Amino acid sequence: MSRILVKGGQVVTQNAIREVLVADVLIEDGRVVKVGKVTDSVDEVIDARGDIVMPGLVNAHTHVAMSVMKGIADDLPFGDFLDKVFAVDAKRQEKDIDVGARLGCLEMIRSGTTTFVDMYYSEDVIAKAVEDSGIRGVLCWAVLDQRFTTQKGVPLENCKRFYEAHKGQRRVIPGIGLQGVYVCSEETFLGAKEFALENELLLHFHLSETRKEVYDHKDKTGKRPAEWLSQIGFLGPRCLAAHAAWLTINEVKALARAKASIASCPVSNMKLATGGVAPIPEMLAEGVNVSLGTDGSTTNNSLDMFGEMKTLALLQKSSRWDPTVVKAQQALDFATRNGAKAIGLESMIGSIEPGKMADMIILDGSSPNLRPMLPSNIVANIVYSSNAGDVKTTICDGRVLMLDRKVLSMNAERVLVAAEETGRELLGA
Ligand SMILES: [Zn+2]
Repeated sequence: MSRILVKGGQVVTQNAIREVLVADVLIEDGRVVKVGKVTDSVDEVIDARGDIVMPGLVNAHTHVAMSVMKGIADDLPFGDFLDKVFAVDAKRQEKDIDVGARLGCLEMIRSGTTTFVDMYYSEDVIAKAVEDSGIRGVLCWAVLDQRFTTQKGVPLENCKRFYEAHKGQRRVIPGIGLQGVYVCSEETFLGAKEFALENELLLHFHLSETRKEVYDHKDKTGKRPAEWLSQIGFLGPRCLAAHAAWLTINEVKALARAKASIASCPVSNMKLATGGVAPIPEMLAEGVNVSLGTDGSTTNNSLDMFGEMKTLALLQKSSRWDPTVVKAQQALDFATRNGAKAIGLESMIGSIEPGKMADMIILDGSSPNLRPMLPSNIVANIVYSSNAGDVKTTICDGRVLMLDRKVLSMNAERVLVAAEETGRELLGA
């Protein structure tokens, strides 16, 4: 039995009443067993006095293997962007996906993300990187109509095989990824749903990212995408919709009725200039569970959830001419508790509480940008003043992945060298 004591930090628990405590956190066999004064003997002490201890962040939408493709298609119109990304992606082999996934896991460990939701093909390759790096991944195999795919075999069958090979694990959690209404028929959506319900899996899909997607679908079916998904009986509590930017209030209500979650990706939406701003205030008012994602590194171009929290809050305030919408505490909830709920893991992760998995990070309290640090401003400092470089220690599933900025679970140097080689091969530079 291994016991780790995280000693004396300012613990932003993110529990039901959002307590912030100066406390010790005792970790036993991967779980938090006590938050308070701990005098038990332990195997390892991590001194967090003067630092912030908070739950590991949950990135609720990304394509981690694209980390090695950053900077390849910037500052382009959306159509040209897609052409360029698809052309590079088509050249990729399993080894490139492996390198990209490892680079992304390394970036997330360094920037305080302990759980991420991925959508891609070849999730079996990504699963190996997740296993080795020590991070937690909900890996959603991309499912789409046969006629649109470059996958070998039938996508839903590939997804089912991936599930069978990885079910029952704690850190690699298989899910179903549906690319979007533009490449998935009613039959594909409902086939995926049936499999998700049988096996209690996440249904993760892109939804209403661009105006073109919405109007093309309306031309084809007479309904906007979320209306249509509601009408065909697809929406439900296992659904996590990425983007959800171009929605009407009736579509927001349909998501709320279905108890679905969304993952807003503000940086990606702004960088691609797709125009839509997710109607977060209406979603919150109607009771939609809102979480946060970076999207892939071709559209962000990073996996930095601290930057994402701040951007989401600023975009909402700016677009509404109202600084009171999306407060700091709400933005932090999106990236922690709500992310956990979106993937059905709210009883396991998302806050620092006895009984939950020990997924937590420590921010360096000596960073000038985090001072002064007072009970009254600590949450605001996390959302508005911190950056990924403030993360000094990352713990996932009770394992210390990074200690005082040194990554312990991966050979960072080897990952970086491989990323350079792969980048050069793919980009021809
Ligand atoms: Zn995406």
